[in-house]
Amino acid sequence: MAFLPQEIIRAKRDGGRLSDADIEQFVKGLTDGSVGDGQAAAFAMATFFKGMDIDERVALTRAMSQSGSTMQWDRADLHGPLVDKHSTGGVGDKTSLVLAPVAAAGGLLVPMISGRGLGHTGGTLDKLEAIPGFNVNLPVSEFRRILGACGCCMIGQTAEIAPADRKIYALRDVTATVESPYLICASIMSKKLAEGINGLVLDVKTGSGAFMKDEKDAMFLAELMVETGERMGKSMVALITDMDQPLGRYVGNALEVVEVLEVLRGEGSDDLRELCLELSAWMFQLGGKTQTIEAGKMLAKELIGSGKALDKFREMVKLQGGDLDTIDHPEKLPRPKHSLEVLSTKAGFVSAIECEAVGTACVVLGGGREKKEDSVDPGVGIVLHKKVGDAIRADESICTVHYNADALGERAKDMLLRSYHIADAPPVERRPLVHRVIRGSGAK
Ligand code: URA
Repeated sequence: MAFLPQEIIRAKRDGGRLSDADIEQFVKGLTDGSVGDGQAAAFAMATFFKGMDIDERVALTRAMSQSGSTMQWDRADLHGPLVDKHSTGGVGDKTSLVLAPVAAAGGLLVPMISGRGLGHTGGTLDKLEAIPGFNVNLPVSEFRRILGACGCCMIGQTAEIAPADRKIYALRDVTATVESPYLICASIMSKKLAEGINGLVLDVKTGSGAFMKDEKDAMFLAELMVETGERMGKSMVALITDMDQPLGRYVGNALEVVEVLEVLRGEGSDDLRELCLELSAWMFQLGGKTQTIEAGKMLAKELIGSGKALDKFREMVKLQGGDLDTIDHPEKLPRPKHSLEVLSTKAGFVSAIECEAVGTACVVLGGGREKKEDSVDPGVGIVLHKKVGDAIRADESICTVHYNADALGERAKDMLLRSYHIADAPPVERRPLVHRVIRGSGAK
């Protein structure tokens, strides 16, 4: 019988279960253009309302992953388990730049395909491009060469990787269907599976700066992704981590590279360092390098303390064309012309920070994109001097804004002042950095 996309859409609209063949044909049609944009958008909306069971999710993830080239790593010249980490995105979340070199220094292979900033959240590729010359647009052959040479390589999604996801994501963006956890699961997992990895650590953010503000939603998405990955033969774990305030103290592309270098030198903010240790420990565990999370953290600490992780980062930067002088002298990274202080209007304790507003203030400065086609200013950003629980005096600086255009600096300053809540007493309860761990069977 001829393949009719409308029958598949109707079946999903009415709450039916799609077969593997239905999903494969639909995704094939998406990729070759025989399924129209209207049909793809209707399919996304039907899925948004009716969801997908595990068999459908696996079929959709597999079909989207196989709609383009998937990486087959030849074990003869690449030694080590292939493990990656993916974050659902946040503000000041620069852990990928620390984790890739730490994991590679510990003997894992990390073929990391990352994204750009989305909405108020920062993007790994934008941060890497703040290093002058760093090339994230490498062909697969070069990706492979660098991975073999130093154990980690970080690039952007190329046209060959999961083209069906690219197409449906663009339509979801304009049809209010981005938020479907079923579609997010297939979208993220299809790209990660195309990397040809053995294991994946998911960092699913929750709180005011996350896309999933409610912890229950974050857990639901994490469970979908862990189950889907496991069914596809991958070792999986998801950490639900806090994004109710920015991670670390620096927000903005070049500034975040500075903070990454601090962590790789054994310094940096406690929360950022702690999360990096925790996530690398899970990467080591999934890759079979260590048996416990404590042992994994110790290994990560040793690799940082001995300078091996920083050496690995330098090696990757060099192989990807980045200027090593800026790594050894971070003051040479892009810097904007001006800075201003945001002063507290009263004394007290920081009781909350509206984290999304901090991310949006960075976008306003030019550190992210208000529209897709916008270019990013690598130097601008915000250095936070106060985080939740800190005491503050009237007229003391909350944060420093680094900017190029006066009007934008002033706009960001107003937003930041409003995003900080100052109370008479410190908050009674502190949110943990790691809220929960959702383990697949390979991550016990
Ligand atoms: N990131 C993705 O890659 N896909 C989604 O659907 C959402 C976030």
